[in-house]
Amino acid sequence: MADGWEYRRQRMVVQLRESGFSDEAVLEALLRVPRHLFVPEGYRTRAYETDLSINIGQGQTISQIRVVAMMTSAAQIGAEDRVLEIGTGSGYQAAVLAGMARFVFTVERHPSLARTAQARLSSLGCQNVSIKVMDGTMGWPAQGPYGAIIVTAGAPEIPSMLLEQLDDGGRMVIPVGDRSKQSLRVIRKSGKRYLEENLGPAHFVPLVGRFGWKE
Ligand code: SAH
Repeated sequence: MADGWEYRRQRMVVQLRESGFSDEAVLEALLRVPRHLFVPEGYRTRAYETDLSINIGQGQTISQIRVVAMMTSAAQIGAEDRVLEIGTGSGYQAAVLAGMARFVFTVERHPSLARTAQARLSSLGCQNVSIKVMDGTMGWPAQGPYGAIIVTAGAPEIPSMLLEQLDDGGRMVIPVGDRSKQSLRVIRKSGKRYLEENLGPAHFVPLVGRFGWKE
């Protein structure tokens, strides 16, 4: 039986399809995650609007569904992949990734956001995600290399330590630009080479850390 939230998720998928998004594996993963539980209570009924980013506290936002879909698709997540996410935020992107990958390591610099995300993911029974509070501009070398790295905050440039943590054939999706406006880049590691593609303009909160922006 489809409850009201299920219905909203179905409609979200229809809207994404109608606007040309066709990655079925990602759409299926989006259908399985109750996004309304990742936003502040007052925003629940708007949680499935595809083009809305929502404040989650500490000056941070949960990305628009359309952006989550695009980044997840660009990262070409496979069932055996170990994935690193920089910027846990609400934990929503991590939950989507967890439905597709073998394991998700996610890093957040604000302890309070990490705590809330952890509680949500645990209560949803999401067991293949590990959250750590630290500066993600240096990645999480101990758990690498990764099949995919997704950075959900805007970087002034691509942190080289992140590139080093990509597996051969691994993909990194990262917004790069100035503090308020970036372009979304996809970098694929192929042997010793890095192939870069630009997916177009993006607006993310700043990546703050040693190899990112200053506070
Ligand atoms: N992926 C999140 C959206 C994150 S918003 C979601 O699905 O809800 C970007 C997040 O990156 C914010 O929570 C911010 O605190 C975090 N962040 C910024 N710089 C960081 C850094 N150097 N290391 C870890 N997290 C960082």
